Amino acid sequence: MKTNKRITRAYCVELEKELSIAAARREYLSLKPPRARFTFLCTNEECRRLDAKITGVNYDLNPQETTILQAAHFRANPKDEHCPTCEWIEHGSSGDLDRSRPGETEEEAKVRQAKRKLDDYIDIFDPNLKEKKPGGDRPGKGGDEIDGDGQGRGARRTSSESNDKPRGPTKTTDLERLVESYRNAKTLPWEEFNLLTLQVSGYGVIPLRSYFRHIEAATMGENGCVLFGGGTVKRYGEGFSFNFIDRLAEKRVSLYVPPDQMKAYRFRRYLKELVIQAEELRYVTLYTLGHLEENPKGKGIDLKVEDLRQIAFVLGPPKTKTETS
Ligand SMILES: [Zn+2]
Repeated sequence: MKTNKRITRAYCVELEKELSIAAARREYLSLKPPRARFTFLCTNEECRRLDAKITGVNYDLNPQETTILQAAHFRANPKDEHCPTCEWIEHGSSGDLDRSRPGETEEEAKVRQAKRKLDDYIDIFDPNLKEKKPGGDRPGKGGDEIDGDGQGRGARRTSSESNDKPRGPTKTTDLERLVESYRNAKTLPWEEFNLLTLQVSGYGVIPLRSYFRHIEAATMGENGCVLFGGGTVKRYGEGFSFNFIDRLAEKRVSLYVPPDQMKAYRFRRYLKELVIQAEELRYVTLYTLGHLEENPKGKGIDLKVEDLRQIAFVLGPPKTKTETS
């Protein structure tokens, strides 16, 4: 059978685990060059026996704003057959995916249709950094999809967990994956984007748009949402600083990542490369779950991140000629 759903996870042969495309990109770009591309297969074991390949598109490139390139995503190989129990096959719906279903309100149908247009829609985001117990990943309660958190402790489903039951909502702790999903959602018409919601673990369901706040509108301390804004990067040895272009209450907001924090980060190679490239750009956009503090020396406001999983960069446009000279 052929798949008819958006493929949001694939099995990476080299890493022997299931990954989202955001996690695959982070893993790939953390490898020492020269890098060999990953081989992806379907998440369903039976499909893998049929050698059902999945293509990873643009995961070999850093996250960037450009509209010339498609965002990184997975795609099924149109020639490959998948087994009937594959999670990427939606049954009894061929051709009527856009029609309302029994028991579904008009609004629910609109939300479902909007989500179908996205590469990887996140239903539930868990911003907590609590370490998961090794090997003790929560069994997919209610069929929740829990992916890797970017630290290699991704949930591996046991073979006893069958693929034939429909998977529940897509859940992640991966900020980068959430950011990609948000940026993708922003390309929808405004009315559709406005319908999208996000369940934040320990908080509740909120409009997706309200979980992202521009730095100018931030408050001191914890914001309980993702703060974002454009800025510039400067390297200090292995560490770096990031300065937002826009100010908060007329104060400059900056992040300093010391070399030790960088060295302890599993994906330091990936982050370092982003920082090096960022120096050559007009700006980069930083998305963060950090909190804001007054600088003790009165030098504006400090953005503090306890863990580098709390930041995600998206590369902006290159400098113009006058800026580089
Ligand atoms: Zn499959």
